[in-house]
Amino acid sequence: EYKGMSKERMMEIRRQNCNPMIMKVTYYKNPVFINQGHMQWLWDVDGRRYLDLFAGVATVSVGHCHPKVTAAAEKQLRKLWHTTNIYVYSPLHEYVDKLAATLPDPLKVIYLTNSGSEANDLAVLLARLHTGNFDIINLRGSYHGGSPQTMGLTSNSTYKYPIATGFGCHNTMCPDVFAGPWGGSHCRDSLIQTIRNCSCPKGSCMANDRYIGQLKEVFATSVPSRIAAFFGEPIMGVGGAVQYPKNFLKDTYKLVRERGGVCIADEVQTGFGRTGSHFWGFQGHDVMPDIVTMAKGIANGFPMGAVVTTHEIAASFGKGVYFNTFGGNPVACAIASSVLDTMKEDGTQQISHDVGAYLLTGLSKIRDKYEIVGDVRGKGLQIGVEMVKDKTSREPLPPAAISEIFEDTKDMGVLIGKGGVYGQTFRIKPPMCITKDDADFFLAVFNQALQNYVKAHN
Ligand code: PMP
Repeated sequence: EYKGMSKERMMEIRRQNCNPMIMKVTYYKNPVFINQGHMQWLWDVDGRRYLDLFAGVATVSVGHCHPKVTAAAEKQLRKLWHTTNIYVYSPLHEYVDKLAATLPDPLKVIYLTNSGSEANDLAVLLARLHTGNFDIINLRGSYHGGSPQTMGLTSNSTYKYPIATGFGCHNTMCPDVFAGPWGGSHCRDSLIQTIRNCSCPKGSCMANDRYIGQLKEVFATSVPSRIAAFFGEPIMGVGGAVQYPKNFLKDTYKLVRERGGVCIADEVQTGFGRTGSHFWGFQGHDVMPDIVTMAKGIANGFPMGAVVTTHEIAASFGKGVYFNTFGGNPVACAIASSVLDTMKEDGTQQISHDVGAYLLTGLSKIRDKYEIVGDVRGKGLQIGVEMVKDKTSREPLPPAAISEIFEDTKDMGVLIGKGGVYGQTFRIKPPMCITKDDADFFLAVFNQALQNYVKAHN
């Protein structure tokens, strides 16, 4: 039985006292009032159950209130909530030891933060201190955070303001092989794609060459001859699960390093096995970043973030101190430790791989059935479904239409997300404990929502 505040009162408080932005992004016409969660399920205040395929934006990694993680949190809460990390305490060291083991050499030095934005801010600072250069290149359409510095790296006008943010950030064209001018689905990596359907000679990709050409143009026109860094996600998250041509990151890293820059992988969404094939998204691109940032799924929804780098780059602080009061909090560390253990025990990366491939296969069939479903992409449980007016123009399906399908999907009991620069992409990034039965349920619901939409508008 629900004993919390009434829906009406919550909405009143939301209007009167909350960040007005959250009214704008209250996703649904009829908002969802969440009461509790368990694994892949959420219940609203009326006791209605939803299959959660958004996981608080890819954040709940092993499942809502996972019993093992909850027990670890409770145990630590009774022992020690906080102490400054100037003292030495076990939870922090146990965690850092475990996290370092998931990363390849030489990525072994870990800074703990409280959010993704904070991690990315620190990564920018490290890159600049280490290289002595200033300019940073990122991809158009990306989201890297909401702090003044990361707002500059974020390339989506929804999150931009007329203030000085993140000097020295320059975006290059996002190598989007669906909505962009070059390429096709054959250019990107997929868990389900088996046929090579492209006329480029083996080992080369015309689309990749052209998007890399755009990057070279940024080098030629926008930045000095030496730069500080390239910042990029292995698969774009907020930008709509955009996947790049297979060698794009590899070629980019090479060019950036030739200009004195370091390469930063933002794994806030793609890390911790979400892409299924690898534990870290960058491993799917056969590259080795100099700095990796992470947050969201790191602690299954408990606020935490991290930056991982090399000893050499970490030495750039010199005599300066990087201090962070809550970074490395014992409760956060105990939770994150238990999350890593749980990922192993529950086989979440394998689930991402298997259920992800199953979902992508099912969604591809749906794509072939409907003129308004333009593209199905992603890897593992980082999936995007791009909605279009029609398959020829590939123009984004307008927001009103997106909302209608979205609302209907929710009313039938499934929560998904929205993304893409024009809000045209449905995002599916569930807790990594979902089953094929859950996938079947979602595919049936989504198919029904599309059918309802087409019927109502034809
Ligand atoms: N990087 C990426 C790729 C993200 O998706 C986000 C959050 N959406 C961030 C950074 C910022 O993280 P936070 O909201 O924890 O500051």
